[in-house]
Amino acid sequence: MKIVIVRYGEIGLKGRNKKYFELALERNIRNQLPGVRTRTTGGRVYVEAGDYSLEDVKKVLTRTFGIQNFSMGILVGFELDDILSTSLGLAEDEVKKGRKSFKVETKRAYKKFPIRSMQLSAFLGEKILERFPELHVDVHNPEFRIGVEIRNRGTLLFSNRLPGPGGMPVGVSSNGLLLLSGGIDSPVAGWYMLKRGINVHAIHFASPPYTGEKAFEKVIDLAKVLSMYNGGKELMLYDVLFTKAQLAIHRAVQERFSLIIQRRAMMRIATEIAHRMGYKTLITGENIGQVASQTVENMTAISNATDRLVLRPLIGFDKIDIIEKAKKIGSFEISTRPYEDCCTVFVPKEPATKARIEDILRAEKNIDFSQLVNEAAGLTKLYRIKLGQVMKVESLAMDE
Ligand code: ATP
Ligand code: MG
Repeated sequence: MKIVIVRYGEIGLKGRNKKYFELALERNIRNQLPGVRTRTTGGRVYVEAGDYSLEDVKKVLTRTFGIQNFSMGILVGFELDDILSTSLGLAEDEVKKGRKSFKVETKRAYKKFPIRSMQLSAFLGEKILERFPELHVDVHNPEFRIGVEIRNRGTLLFSNRLPGPGGMPVGVSSNGLLLLSGGIDSPVAGWYMLKRGINVHAIHFASPPYTGEKAFEKVIDLAKVLSMYNGGKELMLYDVLFTKAQLAIHRAVQERFSLIIQRRAMMRIATEIAHRMGYKTLITGENIGQVASQTVENMTAISNATDRLVLRPLIGFDKIDIIEKAKKIGSFEISTRPYEDCCTVFVPKEPATKARIEDILRAEKNIDFSQLVNEAAGLTKLYRIKLGQVMKVESLAMDE
């Protein structure tokens, strides 16, 4: 039987909350591999892979936050012949990869098994050397290890460790609403917050007819990418009709303030939805100094429009590093499709770089935000996305 041994990192440090973290990790694994059985014991999660191919399991686990590394194991009984032949099979795979040095590590949790750990390691090591004379033993720095765990249910054998993505299981660190544009930065920002265990949902502001279908398709595709990293949970994407607010702002305020006031309007609408749907934080892809409008002063004015904590995980990143990450995650090619988002359409030629909050508040006096916010929220569409697929589209009933 195939059993995957999953080792987790930081969860192990969580003391009394450990069980909660472990259960979240198990649940996230099961969500993505329906039907598998999982069990946590001795600081590891064991996954019975059932009918899933090792490739399928590998694909899922390399994307599941909270996992440090994992090994594909084989469970046999207590017969020495079975243990030996499985060990030789594992060693053969490594020899084929050109590996030269190894070590056998045995753990005997089931004490009724008659051979002691050291003895069993020595015996298996000798037999492996007999079969593969090109190998040698290196106890300190082996190129591969054969792990043998004698447990109540049988003997679990495994060799190489595959890296997981680290981080924390999604869901253990509250939740957040990501302001998802069609750009490069915001999906990466969402990914980093998922990595820290925040259950991230997304909100997008579109301004048809100034922005088209294709621009929104990009956003759906980006949300699909994020849904591959959230432990198989449902990711909700809120599609807000922003045209009316944008035009009202465009008409009422001096051009140099319009960008900041647009962002503040986005914050207001996102906050309304956060209050109704229970999101604890807002997340943006903002980055200090990246464009003229992303200054400390402007971000202060933007944060000032919400009572929610605003998380800006990319704040100190260089653009090159964000692009590299976007390529790894799989969002870069989507973000760079050539369709405008709503802000590039209305972007002022010379936006204020150090907006003073008094000036912003004065400029906003002519706009009835509470009405705009309620209208926009009322017209919002909700996409439910799971593991890269849109499951359902509905309208958000905001007036209950
Ligand atoms: P991005 O690459 O994420 O678009 P950016 O560097 O282009 O970021 P801006 O366009 O100034 O920066 O946007 C800053 C942040 O505001 C974005 O990262 C995103 O979180 C949010 N944002 C901007 N436009 C939208 C939009 N149309 N819908 C939702 N969020 C948006
Ligand atoms: Mg942008």
